[in-house]
Amino acid sequence: MGIDDLSAAGVVGAGEMGPGIALTLARHGVDVTLVDQSEAALEDARDELEHVTDLLVDRDVATESATGEALDRIRTATELSDLAGVDYVTEAVTEDLDVKREVFADLDEVCDEDVVLASNTSSIDIDDIAAATSRPERVLVTHWMNPPWVVPVVEVVLGDRTSDDTESFVVDLLEDVGRSPVVLNEVVPGYLINRMNFALAREALHLMERGVVEKEDVDTLFTDAFGPRYTLMGPIEMLDLFGHDTNLAISEYLFPDLCDDDEPSSLVEDLVERGDLGMKTGRGFYDYGDERQDVESIDRALLDRYRELGRYE
Ligand code: NAD
Repeated sequence: MGIDDLSAAGVVGAGEMGPGIALTLARHGVDVTLVDQSEAALEDARDELEHVTDLLVDRDVATESATGEALDRIRTATELSDLAGVDYVTEAVTEDLDVKREVFADLDEVCDEDVVLASNTSSIDIDDIAAATSRPERVLVTHWMNPPWVVPVVEVVLGDRTSDDTESFVVDLLEDVGRSPVVLNEVVPGYLINRMNFALAREALHLMERGVVEKEDVDTLFTDAFGPRYTLMGPIEMLDLFGHDTNLAISEYLFPDLCDDDEPSSLVEDLVERGDLGMKTGRGFYDYGDERQDVESIDRALLDRYRELGRYE
């Protein structure tokens, strides 16, 4: 099973994430209906998709005719009833349980009973969303990362009642559209990515707070040591490389000293109190002056990096 079983898909929510998910499916031959209750959001999504496909052509990732065909495969609609007849739906609406439950209850009415309904939720328990439908075995999380048209990893989080068939259908489908699915067998807060990310961040902030290291040195370690190394192998394979006698010895002396705070770092609390929220306000740990975050150039650099690594199709 996989993309061959799919002729038409729906994506609900045309904000930050939905259009890029729709484009990824459409670039692999799937007809997509992108639904949003807001006509203005759909208008912005169409502009964004033009912009992204221009970039893909500019970066030689795709030809103009291929991206033109992909755009032609995406139609937009304001009503969920337009998803009648699709084979698969990804929901990417506002992160609010009531909103998502309403969307899933409506999708349950509109879509055939065997259609898999995936949610892009970052934090809501999928079982609470699935309970709004009559098909919890066909509901799961596909957590795409931003920007979804660049980053290939998608976390697949199974609910209590997600069936094996649903899991394999979605994993195969994601692989068919060039993604690298990462499966979590149960819901855990933060999924894998934020658990890893914040475990590292907690330790880094703890050492900064103790005055052991400066922020620049932490960042250098990541860009110049971890970054390149992690494109070759992940931390578990790296443990095999170090040798487990060594790992055990390090764990025994190091674990007792690692940060286990269950409160946010006071460094972050102080920044929030001062209104220094990061690039979006011009100052966070670093001072950005007038150089506001240029999301577009970061996305472009990220695309180039994945291409250099041969991990973008
Ligand atoms: P967003 O706020 O940018 O867009 C949400 C869209 O949903 C809006 O256009 C809104 O009009 C639409 N919407 C709301 N209720 C609707 C309804 N009942 N029917 C149809 N459309 C409706 O949100 P986003 O940042 O794209 O996030 C979408 C989902 O993806 C959330 O669950 C979020 O947690 C998750 N997510 C976001 C990111 C990110 O970086 N933004 C990353 C990973 C996952």
